[in-house]
Amino acid sequence: MPLLESEKDDAEQLTSGTMKAVVFRGPGQFQLEAKPVPKAGPGDAIIRVRLTTICGTDIHIIRGEYPVHSGLTIGHEAVGTIHELGAGVTGYKMGQRVLVGAITPCGQCEPCLGGHTSQCGGPIGGWRLGNTIDGVQAEYFRVPFAQANLAAIPDHLADEDVILLADIASTGFSAAESGKIRLGDTVAVFAQGPIGLCATLGARLMGASEIFAIDTDPNRLKMSAQFGATVTLSADRDPVKEIMDRTNGRGVDVAIEALGVQTTFENALRVLTPGGILSSVGVYSGHLSIPLEGFHAGLADQTIVTTLCPGGKERMRRLMRLVETKRMNLRPLLTHTFDLENILEAYKLFESRQQGVLKVAIRVK
Ligand SMILES: [Zn+2]
Ligand SMILES: [Zn+2]
Repeated sequence: MPLLESEKDDAEQLTSGTMKAVVFRGPGQFQLEAKPVPKAGPGDAIIRVRLTTICGTDIHIIRGEYPVHSGLTIGHEAVGTIHELGAGVTGYKMGQRVLVGAITPCGQCEPCLGGHTSQCGGPIGGWRLGNTIDGVQAEYFRVPFAQANLAAIPDHLADEDVILLADIASTGFSAAESGKIRLGDTVAVFAQGPIGLCATLGARLMGASEIFAIDTDPNRLKMSAQFGATVTLSADRDPVKEIMDRTNGRGVDVAIEALGVQTTFENALRVLTPGGILSSVGVYSGHLSIPLEGFHAGLADQTIVTTLCPGGKERMRRLMRLVETKRMNLRPLLTHTFDLENILEAYKLFESRQQGVLKVAIRVK
């Protein structure tokens, strides 16, 4: 039987045994390189990538602000098809389309069984892909603990419908969830990048009444109104004073920090009402301190909570249900599309924040 075009590609890949991958070589040094196609060990799966994207965390990595080892393939958000299954992985079919979360917990260690799957094996331990093991900005990647981490994608959902659930939606929603937003709560979300926008959406889904969204970029503020913000505020115009004025000096029940810098953290603390929760999901890459006058001497019953993106197939399944039932649509966040061959251009655009870029879809053929 003659091979289909797509099967010919497969055959070539298998015989050549190499693939293209985005490899980190040191601060400011990363490029597309040829690497061997990974093999599945027991419990692993090899995924052939269809769609990936670039995360703000990848930018921290390429700048050398978040340490990873030289030679690592970066990227941690992917939709693909099952190419190989290791021993012990059951209930899946070859060629099946799956979403893999950015965080791939084992599901068996003490933190996992204690409910902190993102901290699998130790602090930040659940984040393996593109951090401690080769990531997904490649033609193929290896998923460890595949049984816990391959989420089958319903046929009628496109890759673009679900790709952003792998990280930014899961992270943004977790900011709202960790903030324990109650029906009618007033919420402020500091920074409206992709994660902040998803935090705003999460606050709306959880039943917040007023949602203040703060950013410097008017385009992002416009998008935040679409995602559920009731008031958009420019970060350049004293957002703390604005929020305190608009809440008659009360402040907000939940303040979400979605950038990872001193100013937004401080502002989040300064608008927090006594008993309120500061929910932080930004990735901090410098010194962070608590301003005394915003901290009420540590006596205001306030909570500061941090969360790393929840992963695992059950989290992905539930987030896909939100898309299936049309409770949300994340596609407006995918503002640009590139092929893997042109991913360095995509990095430039994403880093520049020009042309209204929010997230870039990277197609892998
Ligand atoms: Zn990320
Ligand atoms: Zn674990």
